[in-house]
Amino acid sequence: MAEKHLVHLGWVLAADTNKKEVLTVSENVCHKLKQTLAQQFPQFRWQIDFVHRHRFAPKGSLNPLPLLELGVQEKIAQHWDYVIVAVPNALRARDRVHTIGIPSSALETAVLSTASLNRRDPDKLTEQMIMLSLHLLGHVWGIEHCDEGPMIPPETPEKLQYAPFPAFQQEIIVDRLEEVADQRLEEQSQQWNSVIFYWRAFWADPKSILIDIVGYAPWLLPFRMARLTAATAVSLLILLLTAEAWEMGVNLPPSRLIFGTVSAILIATGFIFAGKNLGQISRDVGWREQLTRTRLVVVGTILFGMVSLWLILFLFSLMVGWLLPGEVLSRWVQMNSVDRLMLFRHAAFMAMLGVLAGALGGNLEEDVAIKARLFFDEET
Ligand SMILES: [Zn+2]
Repeated sequence: MAEKHLVHLGWVLAADTNKKEVLTVSENVCHKLKQTLAQQFPQFRWQIDFVHRHRFAPKGSLNPLPLLELGVQEKIAQHWDYVIVAVPNALRARDRVHTIGIPSSALETAVLSTASLNRRDPDKLTEQMIMLSLHLLGHVWGIEHCDEGPMIPPETPEKLQYAPFPAFQQEIIVDRLEEVADQRLEEQSQQWNSVIFYWRAFWADPKSILIDIVGYAPWLLPFRMARLTAATAVSLLILLLTAEAWEMGVNLPPSRLIFGTVSAILIATGFIFAGKNLGQISRDVGWREQLTRTRLVVVGTILFGMVSLWLILFLFSLMVGWLLPGEVLSRWVQMNSVDRLMLFRHAAFMAMLGVLAGALGGNLEEDVAIKARLFFDEET
């Protein structure tokens, strides 16, 4: 019989505390979680490493995003397959009133909060933490809620009682883990050509990727990214009142305008994606299908966002062009009359410059909401 695949998990306690009971509970949970998983999935070899990082003060509520980022970093550094980041703090919820855990299948990482669990009784706490971990891992492994086993939505912590995954979900999980293990072997044996890989990942399911992109309403991106829009507006206002810019804009041939516009949008997309933001959180995590898909959705969302930024700036410039008195304009462009086609050309030129200027000033970092929506599977 072939050797069993190893599934390597990490448990990161991210609280800056030396309280014995907190450490002991986490260690116990690691140990028992491993036993539980080994019992339910004997097809695999299970290993769970416990790591303590004094990163967050154990008081007040925490934004889950930096916790996920910490998890991803540790996962990469320690070569884990999956990681759970545990904190005693409450987690700040976005869509729900309250959340005790956040799984991210795209990042293969989950955040777990013990704030609402039963902290008086260590045995109960351990059980609840294990069941919550299984629930979060279930999401990371791509299974849905159901009315038995760990995937019952834990509306109250009391519902977190020991139960194994039902048989049909166990099957899905085994498939999933085997797929990941095989993929990893493949990664070792050959270097993927990244462009081909992304191309294939896109064509594997283009419809759902496009539906996801539309779901993020990329046309609202220019409004959500306040700094980007401000940088753009300032640069455009100056240019719109500059004679030389008008002269240049109305004289540019359409072919160059089209080429310039397409390049500007692509450059801006690349710049925003690469500029210490979404690229970083998912950096080097590997060629996992889910993550590649997330990246495609992110790039697509930014791309459509830039196209809509261009359109908004185009309309804005066109409007200013129509409002400016005709005599002033013809003096600026040094022609006797300015026709509409020229105004269109000029507006396209302005929009192109605006998109480039915006990309330099903007950064998706501000838009925590987008990141959260992209990476969180749910707020448990
Ligand atoms: Zn859930």
